[in-house]
Amino acid sequence: MSQRFFTQPSQDLVYLDANATTPVLPCIADVVSHTMQVCFGNPSSSHITGVQAKYLLEQTRNKARQVIGAQSGDILFTSGATEGIQTAVVSTLLANRHKATEHSVLLYGATEHKAVPNTLKHWNEVLGLGAKVLAIPVDKDGLLDSQFIAEHVGQALMICTMAVNNETGVYQDLGALEKVIRAHNPHVSWMVDCVQALGKQSLALSDTTIDYAPFSGHKLYAPKGIGFLYIRENSPYTPFIAGGGQESGMRSGTENLPGIAGLYELFELLLDSKQAVFKPSCTLHQYRDQLISALEQTFGDITFNAPLASTVPTTLNFCVNSLTSKEVMDLFDAAGIRVSGGSACSSGASRSFVLDAMGVSDWQSENAIRMSFGPAASAADIALACERICALKPVLSNHCLIVSDAHQPEQEVCALGLTQLRHQGSCCWLFVADNNDAVIIDPIVELVPRLTRLVKQQQLRVKAVLETHRHQDKDSARSLLAQRLEVDASGELGWSHGDNIALGSHQLSRVTTPGHSSDSVSYLLSQNEHIEACFCGDLLVWGGLGSTQFDDASCEQMAQSLKLLSQLLEQNTVICPAHDYEQCFAMTWQAQCQASELLAALLQGDIDHEQFALRKNQLDQRQGEQCGALCGFSLAPAKASGAQLSAQQLQQLLHEHSDSTVVLDVREPYEHGATDIRSLFTLAPEQLINIPLSRLANALLTQQLDKSKHYVLICRTGNRSGQAISNLKALGFEHVYNLQGGLALV
Ligand code: PLP
Repeated sequence: MSQRFFTQPSQDLVYLDANATTPVLPCIADVVSHTMQVCFGNPSSSHITGVQAKYLLEQTRNKARQVIGAQSGDILFTSGATEGIQTAVVSTLLANRHKATEHSVLLYGATEHKAVPNTLKHWNEVLGLGAKVLAIPVDKDGLLDSQFIAEHVGQALMICTMAVNNETGVYQDLGALEKVIRAHNPHVSWMVDCVQALGKQSLALSDTTIDYAPFSGHKLYAPKGIGFLYIRENSPYTPFIAGGGQESGMRSGTENLPGIAGLYELFELLLDSKQAVFKPSCTLHQYRDQLISALEQTFGDITFNAPLASTVPTTLNFCVNSLTSKEVMDLFDAAGIRVSGGSACSSGASRSFVLDAMGVSDWQSENAIRMSFGPAASAADIALACERICALKPVLSNHCLIVSDAHQPEQEVCALGLTQLRHQGSCCWLFVADNNDAVIIDPIVELVPRLTRLVKQQQLRVKAVLETHRHQDKDSARSLLAQRLEVDASGELGWSHGDNIALGSHQLSRVTTPGHSSDSVSYLLSQNEHIEACFCGDLLVWGGLGSTQFDDASCEQMAQSLKLLSQLLEQNTVICPAHDYEQCFAMTWQAQCQASELLAALLQGDIDHEQFALRKNQLDQRQGEQCGALCGFSLAPAKASGAQLSAQQLQQLLHEHSDSTVVLDVREPYEHGATDIRSLFTLAPEQLINIPLSRLANALLTQQLDKSKHYVLICRTGNRSGQAISNLKALGFEHVYNLQGGLALV
């Protein structure tokens, strides 16, 4: 088997994402494997091997009936729930085509899995029904609005609801829903997505008027690619897949017998009252309490996004009040704990539409974490999960992510030197001198709580909170932060200090550098007469220049300011702009001059101020067309990427160049602290360093990196390390490599 399929051994992994998918239980995997190798017949064959396969198929169907309480109606094997949903929707819409009027509606719960509304919209359009596809609102607890259903179900061609929500675990009162639906429309087709209910709630579908109920194997320890659909007797049905007439002509295509055998074994377990694999509800509640207690001990302030009383015990949806979901996810991932941000199926989305429908705050919707376990979880699994969660507490407090209650500042990783803090495209800079004197430049309002905590926890003496100009694209956070930190910020842009601010053995001075705006200044950080860093605001962006599109901007002044900087700055001076749209975390004046053609032309005297202004205006226009009102624009050449190394090649490099090869982890310290990388690659202590992207500028400032060395960059997926490599290449580092796929594939 290819190396790439070997990931971490399962005993290292704490898997708390069962609502996305589950591992196949060993006893189920055995049956699946046996069916593939021994009982491999085609149920349509008339010989004995085929007859045996057919027997297994029908036995499984019978067991499915028992599990979901469906003595009547049909059970159809499908590829999964999405196919079941298509089948139900297409069957209903085709049967009701002739009834469609301009008032017809298709109803679905606002928190339904996307497969449901997207299927309704798709087939409504394909079949040209012209019905209105309407979301049934939910209340703050995620429960469907029965008043809304009562008002609209009379015109409905179909209504789709779900038994248990995949993101929050909220379950609906199906009995109450049935009453309201049938009171207002006795014959409307009603589909209930039961995917997340199987194994967690008892079902008696024949006792209800539910017309369709799709299920999926992989959500409950069976393989992916197998599911089934319950269809009530006499409910409309049209085969969704035509062909060789399998499944009595209802769903053609040779049956997935290994998957069906997996379901057989699963159903046997579910029906066996003496088995100990699936835990009773009281045990699952106990597990949930244990996890909640571990989370609260570790993170302190937590908000649960759905009421525990109306959710199944196997799902927890929460926010850590002081951490973004990205931070929590990265931290969990580094510690080998797998959870999900919102729903796995929409992990690209930054908000949860389910939580939005419940009317939670923006913070909750953007930073929700879903922790879910399966009903076969063991006490040992949960104990290990809790132990791992609790082990994160010192990692968190050491890295200022939570306020430490240990009061041991010596244990904490100090933010000495230069740190870049980002929010979307904006950058704020913190510099901490060797005596804990600090300065904060261009603070961002969203980062005020983080900065406040960091300053207090590390006992920094903030001398000034400064801005490089009045930013057009955001509100000033200067006075708010200065007030929180009790710093005098009354002077112009926060400067109330005469010519210089002393910061330990460093000094900060300022020069006026108008251009992007008339009030723009740059702050120069120097030590022993050397200018080490320049906080230039929006005069420069990586590989380009700040915008001159705003009212009080001036190209002429910008040209003068750039020339002034070229006289003051050294080749190695680190440039710290107020925006970083290009994901460039560290740059020097030399690299900047090489990457920006217009800047180089101006400084080399190839163009005069008038020509500069002409070309700058053209650039601004292009920026307007290409990216809208950003504060700067870059036409820098595409960044170079580094060679990709497999874990094996990394070992080889370490072996061949042990003196000169260093593994550089670019993840944040809390992630670095949560993974034992040295033992993964057998590294000597000096062969591993951690420089997060936020501290790459500091590494330049302190000359921590050596161009003669080989650096293998690592992160979780190879993405951040890839960015850092382009950055280092632009800075002249040649021997930089990326660990392919990051730690995820090691
Ligand atoms: N419905 C719900 C509630 C789900 O959680 C999922 C899977 O995430 C689906 C439907 C789709 O299931 P499948 O992956 O079997 O197509």
